[in-house]
This record gives sequence, C-alpha cells and structure tokens, in this order.
Amino acid sequence: MLLSRRDLLRKSLTLGTATVSANFAPSLLLDLLAAQTDPLAFTNVTVIDATGAPALPGRTVVVVGDRIETIGKFREVKLSKNATVIDASGKYMIPGLWDMHAHFRGGADLIPDNEAWLSIFLAYGITGVREMGGDIPETVFRWRAEIANGTRLGPRILSSGPKLDGPKPDWPGSIPITDVASARAAVDKVKSMGADFVKIYSRDFPPDVFAAIVDEARKQGLSVGGHLPFMTMTTRDAINGGIRFIEHASLFVLGGCSRSEKQIDDEVVARRESKTPMSWVELMYDYAQTFDEDWARELTGELVQHDVWVTPTLAAMKGNESLGRVDYEQHPDRKYIFPGIWKTWDPKTGLRHPFRDDQLEQLKLADEKTATLIKLMQTRGVGLLAGSDSGATNSYRFPGWTLHEELKLLVESGLSPTEALQAATRNPARFLGELPRSGTVEEGKTANLTLLTANPLEDIRNSKKIDAVVLKGKILSRADLDHMLEDVATKAAAANG
Ligand SMILES: [Zn+2]
Repeated sequence: MLLSRRDLLRKSLTLGTATVSANFAPSLLLDLLAAQTDPLAFTNVTVIDATGAPALPGRTVVVVGDRIETIGKFREVKLSKNATVIDASGKYMIPGLWDMHAHFRGGADLIPDNEAWLSIFLAYGITGVREMGGDIPETVFRWRAEIANGTRLGPRILSSGPKLDGPKPDWPGSIPITDVASARAAVDKVKSMGADFVKIYSRDFPPDVFAAIVDEARKQGLSVGGHLPFMTMTTRDAINGGIRFIEHASLFVLGGCSRSEKQIDDEVVARRESKTPMSWVELMYDYAQTFDEDWARELTGELVQHDVWVTPTLAAMKGNESLGRVDYEQHPDRKYIFPGIWKTWDPKTGLRHPFRDDQLEQLKLADEKTATLIKLMQTRGVGLLAGSDSGATNSYRFPGWTLHEELKLLVESGLSPTEALQAATRNPARFLGELPRSGTVEEGKTANLTLLTANPLEDIRNSKKIDAVVLKGKILSRADLDHMLEDVATKAAAANG
C-alpha cells in the first residue's frame, strides 16, 4: 500500500526512533522533503545564533518556507495550527555549517565515490561546500544546479571548476597557463563553464600573468584566490595584487610573517633544478624559524585592509602528519569511503607518504607558529574560514568529520568556540556577501540549521553531535541522516565487492 505524503512525512519526523528500511533511497527522502510544506516549530531550544551573542536558552524557532520567521521566548510564540512542532528541549541550534575548502575529484571513475560525499556532508551538519577545484567540473556544476533546484539532496555547492596552474599543471583537469593571453583565456573558460570564483595554484606565475588573471576575473565578476605563487611574488605582493582569499595558512600566510621570506623563496628557486630541491616541510620550517611577531602583526593589517580571507586548513596538515602513524582502517567513517577514493588515500597506492621523524619535528615548530598566527589574525580582525581540504588524494581527510576537526584545531589555536563556529557559519556568509540573508540564526534568514544534542560553546567537539539538519527549511531528522549514511555504507560495501 502506498503511504500518503503526510504519512511519509510523519515517518520521517520520528526524530531518532526510525529503523533503516530495506528499500531506502535518497530519492524517497527528496520526496519527503518536498512534502514538508507546513511551518516547523522548534520549541524550548537553546539558540547559538553565531552573531557572537551568548547562547539563548528556552527559545522557540519557527521556520516557514525556507526562512526563519520567528525566534521568541518558549511559550510566548503563538504557533499556527498546521505547524509541525518539534520538542527541542535539551538541544542546541546553530547555523548550518560551511566547509569552505573541499574537492570533488579523482576522474570520471570516481564520480559515484564523490557523489556519496554529498550525503556525508549533510549528515555532518554541512549545508554548504566551497569546492576548490578538480577534474570533474561538469558533474560538479550539474550537482550544484540540481541541488539548487531541489532535484538532488545535498549541500549547496560553490565551485571554481578547474584550477589555473602553470605550463605543467600538478593536477589532472587544471588549465595550463603560459602567458598573459592564456591567463585571460583561462579565466574566460572557467567563467563560461559556470565557475563561482577562480582558484589559482601555480608556485611561479609571473607577476604579469597573476595581474592578468586578477584583472580578467574582475571584469568577469569573479574573485581570485588559492595558493600563492611564492617563487615569483611575496605574500604582500599577492595581497596588494588583488588576491581575495588564501588557503593553507601554515604555508602561504606563514611566509609573510618572516622578514626573510624573499631569501627563503629565492632559495627554493635556486635549488629547483638541483639534486636537493627544497621540500614543503623545509620551506615551512624556514618560515617558522624566522617568524617575526611584529611582521606578522603588520601582515594582518594588510590582510584586513585589502579584505583578504584566510582558510587555515589546520586539520589537513594534522592529517598529513598522522600518515603512517594512525591506523585509519579503524576510523569510524571508514565504511563510508568507496574503494576508489580509499586507494588514493592509502600511502601504498596514493600520492602522499608518511613524514620522517625529523620532518615531524620541524613541522612541530611550523604548527606552533601557525597557531600564533591564527590567533593573531582572529584578534586583528582577519576573516577566517573553516575548511577541511577533504578530497581524493588528500589522505584520510574524511568528509564532514574533518571540518569538525578543523573547528577543534581552531579552538586549540586560541579561538573561542564561538569564533570557531563563526569561521564555518557567519564568516562564510560575510565572505560571500550574503550575511543579510544567511549565516546566522536570526529572523528573516535562510533556514539552514544544525540541531545538536550538546553545547558546542562548552566543548567545541559537541559540534559533531548532530540531532537534525534543516536544509532550506526542510528537516532531516537523525533517522533520515542515518538512512543516508547507511545508504552510503551499503554502496561503498558493494563497490568493495
Ligand atoms: Zn585543497
């Protein structure tokens, strides 16, 4: 017998009590969400709105359509008769999270592997993903459109499409740039594909090529950011040259805190073709050894003045350091990773390899100085964004899970839990120019929300304790999220044969 839409809906709203049905499919869930048309009322919830205000206990939050309509004191808010009331006593409501640095990639064979991540991100409370370049852009842009028009379940996607690199790109799918003309053509190309911004990657873009990318992007209405061409330009050159966002603070921002930046980078160039080219570890260590706090403070002023945003990706660095030292076969999320991506993560078959002990020792100093820099950036008002760098080849950066690791590491660097949460909520909205309509839990804003079972301001690790996710006003209960994860695990197992 077919269940009515209302029955289906009621079934999906059992909040944590439903068992996994044998014939679950994400498309069924999509139908269930489409059937949710009545207002949602979360009663007696503690709101952590991410504006910076303290937690607001005993609230009722009413969601109508895809908006937060009312936030008021519990019992003082009059509920309409058709509202679906969700007793959220003991629960904490935060905005939906952004992962501001992730990748969908690995070639056409790995499209199903990447597709499964859409469910995983949602299950971790992530309602927005900034995709930072890969080799399946047409697919990613299709997902972006389908999610936006409601025919696919997943977090909102923003994507650069292919990265822009030098003449011999490091990654498949990147667009090679040889001169000013090809730089402009590359920006035109990603724009015509549908890119939301431009991701640059080359270590040695000549300054005129860098300037051409920024200029062409401005004409096309796109911002530019990514890695810095540190062999040809200093951090301050790039900031003054119009870069909008910088990724991986321990590498591309740390250099700007060293008064010896230029000499160190010149040494990288000098040793480039030698038998002993400088490794990333050595580079970071050299920056760290010559870290100058006054110069770092000066740099934060430049970043603020030019409105340049930084995505630290601390968890990515930690992940690299743990390679060969942690048995990731035992990771609780192992079961969600398809064999194709797992192979790119395994040091035996992938591109990343464990560090030597002496390298780990050097990285310790780089991590320490990076933490000082992160705290300084936060204090001085630099916009920080939380990003995991999850993706094929980026070993064991489990999607979703890693973003929460990042929040924890931001707190360990000296941010308050509120500031860490803002790096994944309010700050992305500010960065995107969308704060008036999203990024916080306030009346009138888009209802992308995450409901937690414990207080993340008491312990940031509670950000992982997800009870429900509201996506554009539609609720995914814990049972729904578990269904989605179960579906991913089943598919991963099948792919494993
Ligand atoms: Zn990346």
